Amino acid sequence: MENSVDIAIIGAGPGGLAASETCARFGASVTVIDEQSAPGGQIYRQAPENLRQRAEGFGIAYVDGVAKANAVASISAIEWRLGHAVWNVLTPQRTQSEAFLISTVTDDGLSEIEAKRVIVATGCYDMPVPFPGWTLPGVMGAGAIQALMKGQRVVPGKKIVLAGSHPLLLIIAEQMLAFGERPAAVVFSQPMWRAGRLLSRPGVAVSFAEPLAQAARAYAKLLRAGVPVIFSGAVLRADGNDRVESVTLAHLNPATGLPQPDNTREISCDAVGIGFGFTASSELVRLAGAATRWSRTGGGWIAVHDGEMRSTVANLYVAGEVAGIGGAKTAAAEGALAALSALRDAGYGVDAAELRRARSNCRRNRAFAALLQELADPGDELLRALRDEGTVICRCEEITKGQVEELLGQNPFLGTSNALKLLGRTGMGACQGRYCSRSVLELISSATGRGVEDIGQFTARPPVKPVPIHHFGGGVRD
Ligand SMILES: Cc1cc2nc3c(=O)[nH]c(=O)nc-3n(C[C@H](O)[C@H](O)[C@H](O)COP(=O)(O)OP(=O)(O)OC[C@H]3O[C@@H](n4cnc5c(N)ncnc54)[C@H](O)[C@@H]3O)c2cc1C
Repeated sequence: MENSVDIAIIGAGPGGLAASETCARFGASVTVIDEQSAPGGQIYRQAPENLRQRAEGFGIAYVDGVAKANAVASISAIEWRLGHAVWNVLTPQRTQSEAFLISTVTDDGLSEIEAKRVIVATGCYDMPVPFPGWTLPGVMGAGAIQALMKGQRVVPGKKIVLAGSHPLLLIIAEQMLAFGERPAAVVFSQPMWRAGRLLSRPGVAVSFAEPLAQAARAYAKLLRAGVPVIFSGAVLRADGNDRVESVTLAHLNPATGLPQPDNTREISCDAVGIGFGFTASSELVRLAGAATRWSRTGGGWIAVHDGEMRSTVANLYVAGEVAGIGGAKTAAAEGALAALSALRDAGYGVDAAELRRARSNCRRNRAFAALLQELADPGDELLRALRDEGTVICRCEEITKGQVEELLGQNPFLGTSNALKLLGRTGMGACQGRYCSRSVLELISSATGRGVEDIGQFTARPPVKPVPIHHFGGGVRD
């Protein structure tokens, strides 16, 4: 095949970029594939060229990160396939050859790439949290609001409520201010003292001074701008006619951390961004048959690896959020390590000292990731308490929590995500279970008492990204 390379890297975020730079340095033939039209991933998402004004509103780290991403993209030894979404990966075992077969889709059609080794650095997405009204237009993931700002320079409202438990909410609110919009409120489910207690642990403030200072600066800026920053609170419901018009905010009981239904207030708003954390985009890893494990606070089903980023499938490597939510620096450290492992396995002369440095860089960054996960953890009890019987769990198939529970009640031996999918259609829709898999897991677990690993996840099936049907058949466009 003409499109055959040594190493294919899926994802051009910090993880994939660090991997590609390392591969290029060793002279390997490498192709980077990303569905976005520019490199940078989520954190350094870029707008189309005619909309790139006011990038400094996202902060100096963003401007530097974008510049670095574009510098890597100008390395001529790397082949770039931007605007290509990967919808299938077949292993050498499946293709009965020496190479993986990667299938991609663009607006213009389908294409394939063969690669002897593949590094999957597909990142993460906003963790979906169902609550009454979460399907109303205007209610979205907090990361989606940021993606609109970075990708289109659009702030999707004039009175936006940001709510959840992730410190990124502070950064997003600060970025809104830079674009001339003052958030209506920023609501954290944690009590304020929890952050203080974690950050006062010995060594934490010193080791992680830079990101902590960034969050503290954002917090101070919000207060100066008069943005209400509320702790021990949660959005109980969103209401509106054609789109969200208000949210009901509950104060959380200090002892249980659960909503107090008699201690609520309404906030008028025109958009809501929910940010309780992130879910790893591990679908390609699973599709290739590599093992994943459940990490409640670290991104759901994350890729298992050997400490040097080798997955459980030979010649398939992982890096970044797909191996556990850890932030951009962790992703970059793991991208470099994944590349070194792939290069070494391919017979390139990788210096043992470089490998040692890369390993210890990963370990250091993972320590910060663990702290961030602990800080951002809303607790499953709170998330469970936010949904009622009528709350839609599976948005694609419009199935409510009550309907899932009824099905589970009628079928006491139904104990896996896949069985529920077959019987109840949750996870059958266009999102391939990205929105409902966590809720389904929890509902089966509370109905049956089974452990998460036994319940398992929906089997990943191609196409993991939507592919227009006319690309397959031809001639059905009209
Ligand atoms: C919406 C959003 C906003 C975020 N904003 C910030 C922020 O401001 N600051 C911060 O510190 N952290 C932020 N994060 C967390 C952030 O993702 C990481 O810290 C960092 O970007 C992780 O790097 P990565 O390389 O692992 O993944 P990413 O940066 O997510 O890169 C993964 C890339 O893979 C591509 N991809 C995924 N699946 C496919 C596929 N099937 N085919 C082709 N391409 C694919 C994506 O388009 C993406 O470009 C954000 C996360 C999200 C989801």
